[in-house]
Amino acid sequence: MLLRLPLAGSFAQLAKIAENKKSSIAVSKEAVDKPPLTIYMLGEEVLRNPAKRIVKVDSSIRELAQNMLITMYSAKGIGLAAPQVGVHKRILVIDINLEDPDAPPHVFINPEIISSSATLDTYEEGCLSIPGVYLNVVRPSSIKLSYRDEMGRHKKMNADGLMARCIQHEIEHLNGVLFVDRVTDKDELTKQLKENDFNQKDVRTKVI
Ligand SMILES: [Zn+2]
Repeated sequence: MLLRLPLAGSFAQLAKIAENKKSSIAVSKEAVDKPPLTIYMLGEEVLRNPAKRIVKVDSSIRELAQNMLITMYSAKGIGLAAPQVGVHKRILVIDINLEDPDAPPHVFINPEIISSSATLDTYEEGCLSIPGVYLNVVRPSSIKLSYRDEMGRHKKMNADGLMARCIQHEIEHLNGVLFVDRVTDKDELTKQLKENDFNQKDVRTKVI
């Protein structure tokens, strides 16, 4: 996921409170000239294929997570799902705290939303696979999630705010769904897609 504006201080502070332990997959947040992975763009079929569950969390998965993080940081994104780099595995990386070099990123393997709040939020989303397009999407405000971390440990998390938003956006990538499929303001969608040289026919109107 991508944000149009730099992260607000309050979000960064909230994230800092929530994250106080070092992660084994943390990499430098500085952009690199040649990121290890290529991000696919709206219109490329690879983004529409559902990803498969990861059976074994081993060093190759941790290496994938690190390469995804380097690629995400280089593109100034806060979230990246494996299908966006052409890998059909159920893994995503998120860091809503880009401005703090010491805050560890999150790796979610086989993430499942256990429950979602009835309360909905409208929030402007962007996507590393659809650069330049930023539009409002309605989603549950908070979620409860189960997943495995980069060491294969089972975890549960309650997320709200930007974290809940980003997790929901990224999990949809694992199912071949993109945020533009969920945009309700079709006129603005058409306008922004055109301005950024994307094709309207690549948006799916029927979302599961
Ligand atoms: Zn995205």
